[in-house]
Amino acid sequence: MQTGKIGVTTENIFPIIKKFLYSDHEIFLREIISNAVDATQKVKTLASLGEFKGELGDLTIRVSVDKKKKTITVSDSGVGMTADEIEKYINQIAFSGAEEFLGKYKEQSNGIIGHFGLGFYSAFMVSDNVEIITRSWRDDAKAVKWSCDGTPEYKIEDAQRDSRGTDIILHISDDSKEFLEDTKVDELLKKYCRFLPISIAFGTEKEWKDGKEIDTGKDKIINDTNPLWTRKPADLKEEDYLTFYHDLYPASEDPLFYIHLNVDYPFNLTGILYFPRIKTNFDIQKNKIQLYCNQVFVTDSVEGIVPEFLTLLHGVIDSPDIPLNVSRSYLQSDSNVKKISAHITKKVADRLQDIFKTDREQFEKKWDDLKLFINFGMITDEKFYERAEKFALLKNVDGKYFTFEEYEKLVKDNQTDKNKTLIYLYASDKVEQHSYIEAAKNRGYDVLIMDGQLDPHVINALESKLKDTRFARVDSDVVDKLIVKEDRKEVDLSNEQQSDLRSVFEGALPSEDHYWVSFEDLGENANPVVITRSEFMRRMKDMAAMSPTAGFYGNMPDSNNLVVNVAHPLVKTILKAKNDTLSGKLNEVNEKIKPVKAKLDELEKALKDKKEEEIPQTDKDAKDENQKQLEGLEGEKSTILKGFGKDYKLVKQLIDLALLANNMLKGEDLSKFVKRSLELIKPE
Ligand code: ADP
Ligand code: MG
Repeated sequence: MQTGKIGVTTENIFPIIKKFLYSDHEIFLREIISNAVDATQKVKTLASLGEFKGELGDLTIRVSVDKKKKTITVSDSGVGMTADEIEKYINQIAFSGAEEFLGKYKEQSNGIIGHFGLGFYSAFMVSDNVEIITRSWRDDAKAVKWSCDGTPEYKIEDAQRDSRGTDIILHISDDSKEFLEDTKVDELLKKYCRFLPISIAFGTEKEWKDGKEIDTGKDKIINDTNPLWTRKPADLKEEDYLTFYHDLYPASEDPLFYIHLNVDYPFNLTGILYFPRIKTNFDIQKNKIQLYCNQVFVTDSVEGIVPEFLTLLHGVIDSPDIPLNVSRSYLQSDSNVKKISAHITKKVADRLQDIFKTDREQFEKKWDDLKLFINFGMITDEKFYERAEKFALLKNVDGKYFTFEEYEKLVKDNQTDKNKTLIYLYASDKVEQHSYIEAAKNRGYDVLIMDGQLDPHVINALESKLKDTRFARVDSDVVDKLIVKEDRKEVDLSNEQQSDLRSVFEGALPSEDHYWVSFEDLGENANPVVITRSEFMRRMKDMAAMSPTAGFYGNMPDSNNLVVNVAHPLVKTILKAKNDTLSGKLNEVNEKIKPVKAKLDELEKALKDKKEEEIPQTDKDAKDENQKQLEGLEGEKSTILKGFGKDYKLVKQLIDLALLANNMLKGEDLSKFVKRSLELIKPE
């Protein structure tokens, strides 16, 4: 028997291993089993090279738990180790890596064990004592036993083992008892070892026979050694991909598409990614991609490792270049991981491009479900945008799909305004904005439907990418002004008439919402009153609503424009009625206003070039007095006009019609409208 000290430069690597190396103690099982897999694959390789000439035999790796002895044993028929090899691979764990690690561990408490080949020592996270009983594949090899109780001292002695391979026996410590439960071990095997390339047996198959569960005595193999992503795409059918998907995510709908990744340069990468079918709330669907390193599960929390939009995809990615058992922060900064992530983005884009090219019909059919991913990628990943702009689609209100290029061609002639800006019209709600959509279509304009949850961002992105292009929602202005092609006709109404008419309409407006009343000559065939919402204000409000700290714009009342068409005969009727009914009263007020205004003008003129401190107090007071008087009189006038507007049914009726066209007339107001309409249609 021989004793010695494990070759690390500090006395105390074990406390470090226990405390810092892994946040997850449970990965010890993965580490021990993946070593067994490595050893088994080595012996297979040696056999194929002709160096090992014996029988390979049964290569199944066996995991067993002895609750009484408090042990977990992992046995393999791999290459095994000679005493010298134990010395070299187990005892001399220092090598370069451990020293480097020990220098760093203080800062990086979430450590980097496997990176330095310290995977085996993770066993001490859960064990008081670890034994290795091993016999090398070499003909003359003797079995040896190594044991260590968690101090740097180890023991090595002769042992009995009839055949090639290794048993790792973990004496589980009291504070890790949970790992002695079969259910726990089952769970860990399922999580970490489900796709390992060598069969892993744990327990025996049970069968139901004559109402009783009987033990068949056959090994229960817990893994699929040949998972789908390791197979050749040419050998696989669509169903295989669907079955695999449902194995991974039971109770999910069929995915939209899958992508079989198979890269061997500049790094090795295989995997299958699925575009899941989801409609809303994609947050809950994140982190469904599993990362593997040579079929060993690494992690399923891929945020920061793959581009954000890909975290919405499902599936598996396997690469020997994804470092095993390291912390997340390490993974995120690893340059290989970054390259892999960029490459996956490219592959995903290529595949989408491919489907688009070869089967556009199918692509269009699935676009509504796909667009969430693609749009998300486009607004968060510059590189992806560059690729996606060739296959991303725009959909119009008639359900037709266009690429960006096609759409530009379609609307260029008819939707370019006088400043050479191309205006893309869109609706966010086909029902609510129906009358505006119709008005735009009657003009020969095309209207896009932009009702997805990311569409406001997509619009921003496109406006910054597409040259001289702006988006305008169909209800953001009267149809004549959505796309201004030439200078418009001035409104043929004096300022005073406009101001009077504004008050008349204000008198009839619903008081709870804010409206800006303005005047346009829309021609006598257009509607007399139209309600629009400024694109700018609406976007500001929408954006504010999306951010948790709704700022200034979030608190603004809804501001709508009430556009009065002065060319419409009914508006002319109102104007005439106002003049006929109110001219007496208004003239009276106007007569009073005249001298006050004249006085005010005079004062203002006199004071114009004087500095504030040169103006005598009496003049200031006189000016204030006049100002107040004028405001009072104007208020009086506006009260008269508003009173008229409120009582004159036609005004209210025209406003209600505009509200109705906008789906904004509801409840009591709607009932009143119906009643008023009936009164107005009195039989002759
Ligand atoms: P790594 O697996 O990254 O090399 P580990 O700490 O997990 O690092 O293992 C250290 C070494 O111990 C392995 O490289 C291997 O040489 C040896 N080893 C561990 N487990 C076994 C085993 N079951 N059979 C043969 N050799 C083993
Ligand atoms: Mg290992």
